[in-house]
Amino acid sequence: MKIHEYQAKELFRKYQIPVPEGGPAFSVEDALAAADRLGAYPVVVKAQIHAGGRGKGGGVKLASSKDEVKRLSESMLGMTLVTHQTGTAGKTVKKLLIEQGLNIEKELYLSLVPDRSSAMVAIIASEAGGMDIEAVAAEQPEKIIKVFVDPLIGIQPYHCRKVSFGLGLSPDLIKSFSAILNRLYRLFMEYDCSLVEINPLVITAEKTIVALDAKVNFDDNALFRHTDVVSLRDTDEEHPLEVEASKYNLNYINLDGNVGNMVNGAGLAMATMDIIQQAGASPANFLDVGGGASAEMVENGFRIILSDKNVKGILINIFGGILRCDILAEGVVQAAKKTGIQVPVVVRMEGTNVEKGREILKSSGLNLITAVDLKDAAQKVAQIVRG
Ligand code: ADP
Ligand code: MG
Repeated sequence: MKIHEYQAKELFRKYQIPVPEGGPAFSVEDALAAADRLGAYPVVVKAQIHAGGRGKGGGVKLASSKDEVKRLSESMLGMTLVTHQTGTAGKTVKKLLIEQGLNIEKELYLSLVPDRSSAMVAIIASEAGGMDIEAVAAEQPEKIIKVFVDPLIGIQPYHCRKVSFGLGLSPDLIKSFSAILNRLYRLFMEYDCSLVEINPLVITAEKTIVALDAKVNFDDNALFRHTDVVSLRDTDEEHPLEVEASKYNLNYINLDGNVGNMVNGAGLAMATMDIIQQAGASPANFLDVGGGASAEMVENGFRIILSDKNVKGILINIFGGILRCDILAEGVVQAAKKTGIQVPVVVRMEGTNVEKGREILKSSGLNLITAVDLKDAAQKVAQIVRG
């Protein structure tokens, strides 16, 4: 789960990680009141969307007067912000963060992520932080340093020294930087984060270290332990069909192709998307209905695929194991009867109770196209969407 920068900064405050003064604004009046509270200019007006690259896309602007705060917040609220992380459709800006403008001397990069191959927490840092960090990673990888922390032992002073030296920090800053890194590590562990990223972490002209940006992602599987985090969810930032799918615990991700697909098992779903692509079409979604899916879950999954306007054909690929073919067939028939199918559906089904499943589909009177194997299914559906 993702949260906004202003929410992440609240969390940083809780852990005494220094952030600029400021607060969120949901209207122009809010923005002016927030600027008044800061009491000094420049202030920075920042679009709050669940994507980075806002600076380059025009979503971070400096205002040197109250009039300018008004003008900027009027133009930013409601605008479609396109960044390299939003895709070409962009995202509508509905919230702002109004904060104190700082005198930046240097922009650093600092993040924490779980590293699967070492089963440790990776601290990633660079002295070349800021808006071009992707280019630094691609062109000057030697400028990115990584230090690994064994979660069973926890962060130690030598980790902090290693990162500090790697960042080329002057001795007077090492102590305050190490304190920040320790607190960030604690936040990362205590909140079951999948990412904590500060880009940029700045050294100000006054020689203080401040988190100017804040990104915190949480492991969805651990959210049951963090009710305070769940309340920060902003469904405005999520795809409406993904929000709908999450109500039924369906692993659904919306994609930009036009072949809807329903599969059981994440691995088989990935393979199905590959084979759709290989057949010359592209998937409209990822959907793993899961091993223990009920007919009701299948019904909801199928209904969600049907409600995607981009879908021109559907491929159902089920290898019946724990999820039996007859349960799947019942769910499909129920959804089809309630929603009505306007697009062709190709079904490839094998495994437990496959005869019973086929019988349910056949006697439903629905116009379903059967396939002998996965390749045949992908080719049939690709042919359909090609017209
Ligand atoms: P994004 O990563 O989405 O582009 P950031 O929050 O990192 O957004 O802001 C982009 C850039 O804007 C920063 O690298 C920094 O140079 C500048 N900036 C952001 N917040 C402030 C601030 N409070 N004071 C001064 N400059 C800022
Ligand atoms: Mg940033």
